[in-house]
Amino acid sequence: MLSVIVPAFNEGENINAAVKALTGLLNEKGIAFEVVFADDGSADRTWEFIEKAAAADSRIRGIKFSRNFGKEGAIFAGLSRVKGDCAVVIDCDLQHPPELIPEMYALWEQGAEVVEARKANRGRESLIYKAFAKAFYGIMKSSSDLNLDGASDFKLLDRKVIDALNALPERLTFFRALSAWVGFKTVQVEFEVKPRAFGKTKWSFKKLFKFAVSSVTGFTNLPMQLMTAAGLIFLAFAAALGVQTLVNFFSGHAAEGFSTVVLLLLLIGSLLMLGLGIIGYYLSKIYEEIKFRPRYIIERETPTADRSSNPGGEGNDD
Ligand code: UDP
Ligand code: MG
Repeated sequence: MLSVIVPAFNEGENINAAVKALTGLLNEKGIAFEVVFADDGSADRTWEFIEKAAAADSRIRGIKFSRNFGKEGAIFAGLSRVKGDCAVVIDCDLQHPPELIPEMYALWEQGAEVVEARKANRGRESLIYKAFAKAFYGIMKSSSDLNLDGASDFKLLDRKVIDALNALPERLTFFRALSAWVGFKTVQVEFEVKPRAFGKTKWSFKKLFKFAVSSVTGFTNLPMQLMTAAGLIFLAFAAALGVQTLVNFFSGHAAEGFSTVVLLLLLIGSLLMLGLGIIGYYLSKIYEEIKFRPRYIIERETPTADRSSNPGGEGNDD
């Protein structure tokens, strides 16, 4: 059986379309499936639509978070719930073409354990966004050897991979990179990013930036070591300057240049603060991990027959 995991955050308009597209396609291809929607604390009618779809079709299920925990939490909640022999993660807004699923499924039947759908293009995005994405993927590649350029969360995973991901103890996750990091026999397919079906993107710039920094630091300690490198460079400078000062002193020329001193102080001061900031950032991540808080909290799950509380309850977002 194929499991389909669909993270959804304020996707009220898209649920029915996604259900229709997925069930229609998989029925037609004769693939046995289940769909698991992970409602990431939506404040709109997303949960109501998920419940309706689940009531109408027993192959559809839903999980609802108590608040917005982020797409990572939604994906991992789905992974922990699916029963299939393989699972595909797909966006709710139909930007990941469902038509690709049968092809990915066929590759899995031929022995692939991870089928990555890579973006052939990046869709309609602003120049700044593209530049940031490029810088981010560049850092990830050079520091952790994971080539994520064009990577997306649209992936099909074998049961073995799902179990490996479920067994990871960490709380601060980056699905896109972790699913490559665990290894296994990987095959790639390409897809064209389509415009969003309804609504607008659920990622604000701030959210995306935080996610990028946390992902880079989650995979490399290089930023911390940069400070050591900077320290060494400044030590070399200091030694050279010391020698020069001594030479000047003995040859009778007193050193001058007050502004040079101020400049050096500023430079070293700011580097020190930057270094402390980087260390502080890693420290806060360690702190977050050792608190052992869950990645998400589930408020409701379908079938909800045993509960009489109001359906479509609200969660706070972010
Ligand atoms: N999403 C989520 N939680 C969030 C943000 C997004 O579950 O906090 C889901 C969203 O509902 C969608 C998918 O993640 O199914 C991709 O989000 P979006 O389309 O907004 O991102 P983009 O395509 O612009 O990268
Ligand atoms: Mg999208």
